[in-house]
Amino acid sequence: MTVATNRRHFLQGTSAALVAGFAPRAAWGRTEVDVVIIGAGLAGLLTAHKLEAAGLKTVIVEGEKRVGGRLHTLYDLPGEPEAGGIQVGTGYRLLRAIANDLKVGLSERGGAGAGIAESSSALFNINGQTVTPADWPTAAANRLSANERSTLPSALGFSYGTKLRRLANPEAWLDADPTLDISYATALRQAGASDEALRLIQANMNGNTLASMSQLHALRTAAIFRAGAGPTATIDGGSQRLPEAMAARIKSPIRLGQLVTGISEDANGVTVRTTKNSVRGRHAICTIPFSALRHIPIDGYLDAAIATLIASLPYTRASFAYLSASEAFWKSDGLPETLWTDDPLIGRVFVLGDNPAMLKVWAVGAGADLLVRTNPALAATEIIARIENARPSAKGKLKMERLFSWQQSPMARGIYHHIGIGQAALLARATRAEGQRLHFAGEHMAQSASGMEAALESGDRVARLVAERI
Ligand SMILES: Cc1cc2nc3c(=O)[nH]c(=O)nc-3n(C[C@H](O)[C@H](O)[C@H](O)COP(=O)(O)OP(=O)(O)OC[C@H]3O[C@@H](n4cnc5c(N)ncnc54)[C@H](O)[C@@H]3O)c2cc1C
Repeated sequence: MTVATNRRHFLQGTSAALVAGFAPRAAWGRTEVDVVIIGAGLAGLLTAHKLEAAGLKTVIVEGEKRVGGRLHTLYDLPGEPEAGGIQVGTGYRLLRAIANDLKVGLSERGGAGAGIAESSSALFNINGQTVTPADWPTAAANRLSANERSTLPSALGFSYGTKLRRLANPEAWLDADPTLDISYATALRQAGASDEALRLIQANMNGNTLASMSQLHALRTAAIFRAGAGPTATIDGGSQRLPEAMAARIKSPIRLGQLVTGISEDANGVTVRTTKNSVRGRHAICTIPFSALRHIPIDGYLDAAIATLIASLPYTRASFAYLSASEAFWKSDGLPETLWTDDPLIGRVFVLGDNPAMLKVWAVGAGADLLVRTNPALAATEIIARIENARPSAKGKLKMERLFSWQQSPMARGIYHHIGIGQAALLARATRAEGQRLHFAGEHMAQSASGMEAALESGDRVARLVAERI
């Protein structure tokens, strides 16, 4: 098969005129490759594979010394815990197909042990008191209003979510009624949430504050959840195995450890400057999260929505602490495994496994900020003391293994985006923008999925767009 027939095959049904309409080679002068791909996370790796399959010459430039981006398995810690994405949803069509092709196994065991899943059986530490789920409705620490008192703190967000407007499907946010694009705090208050309920929902939310997140973000998340309801899976051997396998099938160079410091687009191509050199392509696809991209100068044509969101799209701040335990004390004290607190420094404490006995602290928003601002030795002492106070069976058994913060990484500066108040229409426009020679993909550019699947969805779409243009 020739390159052109290959590309025609890839484009599946695109008109021959488009395929034949290549810019003459002379027009791209010093250009080194057809497409420079910035970032070797899921979006960048899928894009490279698709473009390579279409017969195009690509190069991936990645700032870290590893592939995977926000899929990051900490291979050097006991039990190899995850720092990044974990849960593979039932509706992750693209991810499941890629894992199947690459023979990367998925296991349907996405419980709290993976370090993220909510569990209604958590042990609560609220307003300074430790309370079991059974005792919660009558506990003195329970300061919810009368009609909320029997709802567990971890279930309040879901419970009020059922009182909000429903989106018909995961894509409905793209053209949603703009009057829905109000703060999540206002929407919850209108649904009847008390101040204490708002405080507890915010304590461990997937975002920074209720006041700065759009209600439409929560509605979109709920619609995605409903569409893909079912057991979640995890990637065998650690999440990073998937991007590693994706990278292994790519023949084009993947230049690791090359931090992009500037991007310039002109009429004939895009020059991408890195700490080591520069590379030029007829097109470039940038998968850097906007939270990190806002610190990199871009010179060239940008859709107004994209330009605005590069500067302002909010990302959830999250910091973690990994602790080992001399014994699995949660097995013997008769209490639920997960500790769910309103203490900003420890947030939620998940059991990662019994052998090795490991725990992970998830702090978000202001708590995540507090964790990174605190001297590491003091943070370790404080975290251990607070866990021991909430759960006495932990006393003397914990050791801090590592503190980890995504918001401190210059290549992430947060864990994932959320829609800020009044930003839904802008983000919808950004995901539809086609760009001239500089294009954007990544988790934040998806229209119907979230998380890992969103990264793949956007990479797939942009690869098709660019292949049609070249
Ligand atoms: C803590 C956490 C938990 C999560 N949990 C889940 C989950 O359970 N389920 C789920 O589906 N998703 C989850 N996600 C989200 C999921 O991991 C991401 O959506 C997905 O991995 C993003 O892929 P991406 O390719 O869009 O971006 P990234 O993986 O961030 O890729 C971008 C790449 O660009 C590189 N880069 C950045 N700046 C530069 C620069 N200046 N120069 C060169 N390279 C640069 C980065 O190093 C990175 O490799 C989670 C994420 C985190 C962080």
